[in-house]
Amino acid sequence: MKKSTHISSHNNPNAAPGQGTLAVWAGEQTVHWMGSTQVPVAHGVSFGYKNIDEWLKVAQGKKPGHIYGRNTNPTVAAFEEKVKTLEGAEAATSFASGMAAISNTLFTLLSPGDRLVSVNDTYGGTNKLFIEFLPRFQIGVTLCDTSDHKAIESAIARGCKVVYLESPTNPTNKVVDLARLTAAAHRHGALVVVDNTFATPINQQPLKLGADLVVHSATKFLGGHADALGGVVCGRRDLVSRIYHFREITGACLDPMAAYLLLRGMKTLHLRIRQQNQSALKIARFLQTQPQVASVFYPGLESHKNHDIARRQMSGYGGVLSFVLKGGFAAVKKLLPRLRYAHLAANLGAVETIAGPPATTSHVESTPEERKASGIPEALIRYSVGIEDTEDLIADLQAALKP
Ligand SMILES: *Cc1c(COP(=O)(O)O)cnc(C)c1O
Repeated sequence: MKKSTHISSHNNPNAAPGQGTLAVWAGEQTVHWMGSTQVPVAHGVSFGYKNIDEWLKVAQGKKPGHIYGRNTNPTVAAFEEKVKTLEGAEAATSFASGMAAISNTLFTLLSPGDRLVSVNDTYGGTNKLFIEFLPRFQIGVTLCDTSDHKAIESAIARGCKVVYLESPTNPTNKVVDLARLTAAAHRHGALVVVDNTFATPINQQPLKLGADLVVHSATKFLGGHADALGGVVCGRRDLVSRIYHFREITGACLDPMAAYLLLRGMKTLHLRIRQQNQSALKIARFLQTQPQVASVFYPGLESHKNHDIARRQMSGYGGVLSFVLKGGFAAVKKLLPRLRYAHLAANLGAVETIAGPPATTSHVESTPEERKASGIPEALIRYSVGIEDTEDLIADLQAALKP
């Protein structure tokens, strides 16, 4: 980290840098090429050595360096370093997508005969792993009512290897008490994995609340520009090395160009999140006053079922809100195309506002019955707030809501 010579009122040289400073600087100085101030994109698949002894040492992990792009790459390593630092983790490893991060993590940690405890409201793809793929490998899965902490605790107490949590959830913004459930898991010797995609390390740091591993779809807020897919897991070094080893064999590695785009996006993470936190809260409050809106789900609202938990474990409530329209799916179909400042698309966390119903976004892989079982209304709209001016977004929604 570059030392500042600027004299400020809190000029303590030992103070840990803030998240904004880390978003800009972390990982950036691990790679230099001819003095380039920006991390170069190392497109080369392999890394050559003239000295065979040195090559051997790198291959054996006795000397830092790179061998082959499926294992490691300097641009990718800089991305991992930035996420690791922001999450306050010991180690991080990255993936081609968020789902690659989640599936590689779970298949590393779980073996036939093991059990996983999670909740009904997880990202649609994650839910598919739980109901379709893990059971095929004789891994037991218990999914609990997301709002029933006692039920989750008693499922954990019956014994499990992994507790998998997501908070806030996609798309209904349910909040679970991460410290409480982590403590329950640890009492029974289970590992805790938290999907922190919605909150980002700016709003919530699950490792500080006791979690063992944090996963991200870097595609969303971390990258922030909807131009690169990526995933990452960070946390305890011993666990991350096992997951890294599995990933170097499954080959679900992050592409260097995507790593570069994610790195560049992350430099403005704190600014984007600050703006999105503010806008989302204002928009959620506005929607609550609209007669056409049946309900609004946003953890920052006092009316949110677990607002107290959110207030305890989050420093901001995030850029995604969802709301249910009176008038069912027909009303959704009418409102969405009227929005001027929103991509109607299956994504979130970008600088542009993005809106859509769960059937074509978070739960596109689920059947209508599965969405119903997860308590996701068909008249729901997920609204991922971009960095546009808040007043323009509110005016846009107001116009679109007009009968
Ligand atoms: C999008 C998303 C994922 C999956 O990430 P991909 O990068 O699309 O594979 C996982 N979890 C959450 C919460 C998400 O929003």
